[in-house]
Amino acid sequence: MKLYNTLTHKVEEFVPMQQGKVGIYSCGPTVYSHPHIGNFRSFLVADLLKRFFEFKGFSVTHIMNITDVGHLVDDADEGADKLEETARKQKKDPLEIAKFYTESFMQASKLLNIKPSDKYPKATEHISEMIDMVKKLIDKGYAYVVGHNVYYDVMKFANYGQLSGNTLEDVNAGARIEINQEKKNPQDFALWKHDPKHLQQWDSPWGRGFPGWHIECSAMSSKYLGAEFDIHTGGEDNIFPHHECEIAQSEAASGKKFVHYWLHTRFLLFDGEKMSKSKGNLYTIPELIEKGVRKNAIRYALISSHYRQNYNFTFDGLKAAEQAIDKMQQCVLQLKDIQKSSKAGEICQQIKDLSSNCLAQFDEALSDDLNISKALAVCFDFIREVNKAEDMNLSEASALLETISKIDSVLGVLESTDEEVPENIIELAEKRKTAKLNKDWKTADAVRAEISAQGWLLEDTPGGGYRIKRGENT
Ligand code: AMP
Ligand code: ZN
Repeated sequence: MKLYNTLTHKVEEFVPMQQGKVGIYSCGPTVYSHPHIGNFRSFLVADLLKRFFEFKGFSVTHIMNITDVGHLVDDADEGADKLEETARKQKKDPLEIAKFYTESFMQASKLLNIKPSDKYPKATEHISEMIDMVKKLIDKGYAYVVGHNVYYDVMKFANYGQLSGNTLEDVNAGARIEINQEKKNPQDFALWKHDPKHLQQWDSPWGRGFPGWHIECSAMSSKYLGAEFDIHTGGEDNIFPHHECEIAQSEAASGKKFVHYWLHTRFLLFDGEKMSKSKGNLYTIPELIEKGVRKNAIRYALISSHYRQNYNFTFDGLKAAEQAIDKMQQCVLQLKDIQKSSKAGEICQQIKDLSSNCLAQFDEALSDDLNISKALAVCFDFIREVNKAEDMNLSEASALLETISKIDSVLGVLESTDEEVPENIIELAEKRKTAKLNKDWKTADAVRAEISAQGWLLEDTPGGGYRIKRGENT
């Protein structure tokens, strides 16, 4: 399997630290407002990656943090703490704000069928781990104390800038005019900050204060995945300064290589601009669902373009996603009908080849740095071939269904069609069938409406049969 590694700027063969296992850390949400679909594009890339590793038989440990303190407005050391700002505006406790928006993130993740991470560590619950790491950095000479603040001395870390491609001169040139007089170098960053007005504060060897944003991810990733692990993900804006600083902290503290592969998702755009909370040009998952968009179409649209290309969000894109899912869903329903109406038998070579070629090509496409467009093309070629196949028996239909299910274990877009249809709905469907045979259209329509009112959708199939699934007739 090949992945593009931001650190080396190359597509590389993925070699796990431990055979058959992979550890992934993803920068999670800063919980000061509802997450938008741009955030979810990054989270879904992590989900796709994780699902694909599982498809390939890996055992995955996935950690996604929750940032509930320390993320300042400018991503570095300036401006208000994002969480505090919301807390002050809403006149609430920061932890109450964090709880509310963490819940919002969890609910939207569930709607998008994102597999839960093994753990969602919260920054505010790992302050002692952060303090320990800061102490270590001071002891080793990488950090210095000024009054009640602690800063990281980037001049001490030779590889600072390797991930982002920024040289120290670049960073200096970009530094703010009002340079913090306490710092030895303008590009040094805060590990621990003192601010008597900050709403969330903890005791530390340097006095009361709160942690810098970057130290949170260094401390939490090493606690749950070890000081050295396989993959770290995030959106492209995390590369600098966040991930550059994480590397400097973690490698200086442990003396080990921190992360083997860095994966960054390019921005989701809206009208050509980055979708962001600060610009306010955003959509949340509940907002789109409220507009009648199907949740699996949102998922499909957000995963359907390559993670290293921008994705320009449009409603036409969501419509196309709905149509694509319908094609897959229709194929599944037809195969289920065949399962019901035919007998078991030999699986012919053509069906066997169709399945195994599809799975091999799907694997090959995603193994090429998650080439999702190619993987989806393989999936739809397969569906076209399945739709052409004739005189299938139960065993063949089951084999093809299993292939679709394996593909969907990665894509995660199909709705479950396994819900048991209640007896009374089947009786109504039979009543309608009889009415139709008797050309009693009035009764047939009334019964169909009754079925729909109970939340079920009746579809006629060729040959006078029917199919029942969840949903209402429109
Ligand atoms: P935040 O809640 O701001 O900490 O962001 C959570 C994650 O979403 C981070 O990994 C960001 O890099 C990512 N992100 C933010 N905006 C976008 C966007 N428009 N497209 C893709 N990823 C984004
Ligand atoms: Zn992070």
